[in-house]
Amino acid sequence: MKKAAVIGYGGMGQWHVAHMEGLNYFGSKAPKSDVVKCAGIFDIDPKKEELARLYGINVYSSYEEVLSDKEVEIVVIALPNDLHEEFTVKALESGKNVICEKPVTMSSESLDRMISAANANNKVFCTHQNRRWDDYYVTMKRLAESKEIGDIISVETRVHGSNGIPGDWRKIAAQGGGMLYDWAVHMIDQMLWMNGYDIDRVFCHLDFLTDAEVDDGCFIDIFLKSGIRCRVEINTYNFISMPLMYVRGTEGTALIKDWNSDIEIVRCTEWADNDIKPVKTASGLSKTMAPRSERTIETYSVKKDSVSVHDFYRNFCDAIDGRAEQIITHEQMRVVMKVIEASFKSDKTGEVVKF
Ligand code: NAD
Repeated sequence: MKKAAVIGYGGMGQWHVAHMEGLNYFGSKAPKSDVVKCAGIFDIDPKKEELARLYGINVYSSYEEVLSDKEVEIVVIALPNDLHEEFTVKALESGKNVICEKPVTMSSESLDRMISAANANNKVFCTHQNRRWDDYYVTMKRLAESKEIGDIISVETRVHGSNGIPGDWRKIAAQGGGMLYDWAVHMIDQMLWMNGYDIDRVFCHLDFLTDAEVDDGCFIDIFLKSGIRCRVEINTYNFISMPLMYVRGTEGTALIKDWNSDIEIVRCTEWADNDIKPVKTASGLSKTMAPRSERTIETYSVKKDSVSVHDFYRNFCDAIDGRAEQIITHEQMRVVMKVIEASFKSDKTGEVVKF
């Protein structure tokens, strides 16, 4: 077991500690890690220190104390986004391996400095793109790779809330607030991990509906050189949610409505359909938009794969021991950051950003 210290014991720091130690997390017991043990936490907020002690978790009195603890092999950075670079580089320079929460940082120049520190000190460094292990996404990716619905034409992924942005540092631009740095980074990473990293161009529109300082929603189209179009939509001011993921393939369509549903698939078994009955539309009949006859399609659902969030930590520890390559690579982190930068630019200029 490797010992990890968690820096920042807010929402996500508590998630990490709960999953290392098998503690309660928002009302249910988290599965305990088989590879990582929590050496302790560091947070500047006395209330967080008190909470950690309540769970029997060691509390460090300073970041320097964490970095000088020889038992600590991994430092997990779960701080507001503007602090990621400083804390990560310090840890790498102190000979620690680093897991830094997403977004890994706020610009590609900053990320390059973090990667240089990892390389110079020969330490493993990656960001926590834990949504690569979301069960619906893992299943959809597997179905896409097995060509269940043929070659992929387009993938759309959406998360919709109606409460605006939480009222903490996420509302402050200088601290890396806004939805592009928050939810979108997960979805961009998912889209590229599923469909490839060879990007042709990016177009983005940001919403500022409930907040003037940071985006509370974003619509990003990523066009890959392969011809696949990926759409990422994050919305915090929407009172009816659109489906979580919608995939069009050359032989069918797959859809998942929400986190609790199975995946719905409609495969086209016969293209020619001579039995189409026109559908009645608001202003007349349409054959073009009519449903296909049952004879030419196959409809079924697929249960989600079972996945373990601990595969992330297992891979990270294997990478430290030289038994595996890290799944989330520096280059992948760089491309995700470039998409975020291109998205900000596209929104500002109203133009498509070529890669
Ligand atoms: P949070 O505000 O709940 O927690 C941040 C903690 O950092 C607070 O307890 C605060 O006191 C502490 N802190 C602030 N400055 C500090 C300093 N200088 N030294 C020590 N402690 C300090 O925020 P959060 O929701 O936990 O988010 C933290 C990070 O985790 C962000 O980067 C966020 O994007 C990421 N996150 C990731 C996921 C995921 O699914 N991977 C989910 C939520 C948040």
